[in-house]
Amino acid sequence: MILAILVSAALQAPPPQARPPQRRPAPKPVARVVAPAAKPKAFGRVVVDAGHGGVDPGAPMQTKAGLREKDITLQLALRLGEALKLRGIEVVFTRKKDTLIALADRGRIANQAGGDVFISIHVNAANKHWRNPGAARGFETYFLAEAKTEDARRVEAMENEALRFEGPRHIDSSDPLGFILKDMEQNQYLRESSEFAGIVQRRLAQVHPGPDRGVKQAGFHVLVTALMPAILVEVGFGTNSGEAAYLSSTVRQQALARVIADATNEYLDRYQRRVGNSGLTGSHD
Ligand SMILES: [Zn+2]
Repeated sequence: MILAILVSAALQAPPPQARPPQRRPAPKPVARVVAPAAKPKAFGRVVVDAGHGGVDPGAPMQTKAGLREKDITLQLALRLGEALKLRGIEVVFTRKKDTLIALADRGRIANQAGGDVFISIHVNAANKHWRNPGAARGFETYFLAEAKTEDARRVEAMENEALRFEGPRHIDSSDPLGFILKDMEQNQYLRESSEFAGIVQRRLAQVHPGPDRGVKQAGFHVLVTALMPAILVEVGFGTNSGEAAYLSSTVRQQALARVIADATNEYLDRYQRRVGNSGLTGSHD
């Protein structure tokens, strides 16, 4: 009898795979919408990370206005966020003001927010030992993998230097073994990140005077902890006065934000076609 009840209960219980896929809850109905907002995409939560901040000014910039890398990255990140929202894409910022966020915490914020992709915005700087450092210019997009060239190692060292502002609390994040293990976790997104970087680089070429320095790879701490496709964009050289002026211009920033948002939209569409609504990172809720 007991067995029969158990069997019948088992027959009545839905099979485990019949559980409906977890989806993000539908947006709450709004009573009156004056201007209809962009139709929210079913998929795609983008984490926008403005490089540096607070006591970490980032790389020097050749601007009369005294802007630092941290100022440009924040302005651009906020514009990118607006451009993404216009395309119906959800946005999470790692910072929205001039504060220092530890490199490892940026990825953690992205994971906790259930991000689908991570975009870190930076401004490049020429090595002062180069023959003509002021002449270097152009844009490049990185994904996380072992640095392959001397130049990629230079950018890697420069962007990882932010660790020194973080104090002893974050010493563990520079532990080499921990770094390698985290790197392996991020490895599963390597192909996705590389494709995303390629789209961003191609779209940037539509507005950026260049040169196009290509898609590159390096071991950035900021990308290691983000368990999702993750890229780092170096939008230009602050050490070149022409490019520093370009990056400081509101109009130029809006154009850069627009094409990076277009690239993200294009990537998310492709990504969704491949993996469906569940996403690589699993359920959001
Ligand atoms: Zn930077």
